[in-house]
Amino acid sequence: MLSLSLKDVHKSFGPIEVIKSAELDIGPGEFIVFVGPSGCGKSTLLRMIAGLEAVTDGTIEIGGKDVTRLPPIERNVAMVFQSYALYPHMNVADNIAFGLKIAGMPKAQRLAKAREAAKVLQLEALLDRRPKELSGGQRQRVAIGRAIVKKPGIFLFDEPLSNLDAELRVQMRLELAKLHQDVAATMIYVTHDQIEAMTLADRIVVLRAGVIEQVGTPLELYHQPRNEFVAGFIGSPKMNFFGARVDRRTADQVLLKVGDFDGATVGVAADRSAAQPGDAVRVGVRPDGFVVSESGDIPCRIGLAERLGNVNYLYASTGTQQMCIETKDGSIAAGDVVRVSIDPQSAHIFSSSGDRI
Ligand code: ADP
Ligand code: MG
Repeated sequence: MLSLSLKDVHKSFGPIEVIKSAELDIGPGEFIVFVGPSGCGKSTLLRMIAGLEAVTDGTIEIGGKDVTRLPPIERNVAMVFQSYALYPHMNVADNIAFGLKIAGMPKAQRLAKAREAAKVLQLEALLDRRPKELSGGQRQRVAIGRAIVKKPGIFLFDEPLSNLDAELRVQMRLELAKLHQDVAATMIYVTHDQIEAMTLADRIVVLRAGVIEQVGTPLELYHQPRNEFVAGFIGSPKMNFFGARVDRRTADQVLLKVGDFDGATVGVAADRSAAQPGDAVRVGVRPDGFVVSESGDIPCRIGLAERLGNVNYLYASTGTQQMCIETKDGSIAAGDVVRVSIDPQSAHIFSSSGDRI
């Protein structure tokens, strides 16, 4: 269980800077998830930590030691990739123990370690099988087993579940959470799936175009996103955004005129925002921040109603603006016109530059 520090880490490929001054401190035993859209630099950052990609500028410390120029083998990390690349002619035990064989460990000892890892991963009954006799989830577990036997100070995972079907992903997600408890190691996990990020992480690192936008616990990012990008990225269905102008502040509310709502006035709790009268802003409302009621200020027409049983998502339009409304009311249907209001305790206000204010 080791700590990790990134200090002003940059990475360029030719003239293009893909990681721009990454600063990050990870404590021993933390489960950290890197999320962000495709191409934002998640894999590049992970590969630099692993030592598979050279750092252009800056310092990487693992366990307090500068490893910036050290090869992967001297960093005490193990990486699991999306494509698990098992050796087809070797059985599960030999695949798991392969790294130990390369390191020169005697056969009996390395097979004992493979059995130990197989136990954690519930692969004990499959040790004699070849990869082609395994399901996708079992193969991915073998790849994780290869990492476990190295007893690394830090596990690095790059989208390890992306090749699995939806049901298996959920199951493997639970197993990874359990693995983190069992092996008590520091883990850094890359995904573009924000549900995986929310459920696995102690802290999430949100990346956009090579910049760390925010680092925080899942609930910090959900409730206190630093900017519109994080607010829109975390949460499903996504937060809705509307253009507005601050009209005035009262003792308990910021009152805004929302252009997208035909100029209707909405209120946001005063302690949620420092926005000032006259400010041109954007209001962010999660689907569960709307209240459907006859006295609502905002009329909208339902384009589509998704009924999930426990909850319903209404895809509605105010004429100029699309939005997603969450409601328990399963009787509202496409074509209906309803009135909604905004819960003042849940809306966020963002400046024109995107920062939450
Ligand atoms: P992510 O994992 O978040 O999808 P990557 O870290 O793979 O993103 O890539 C970040 C950016 O760096 C992308 O624009 C990608 O095209 C670029 N990139 C990655 N590897 C190389 C490389 N070896 N040479 C040139 N550009 C690269
Ligand atoms: Mg990637």
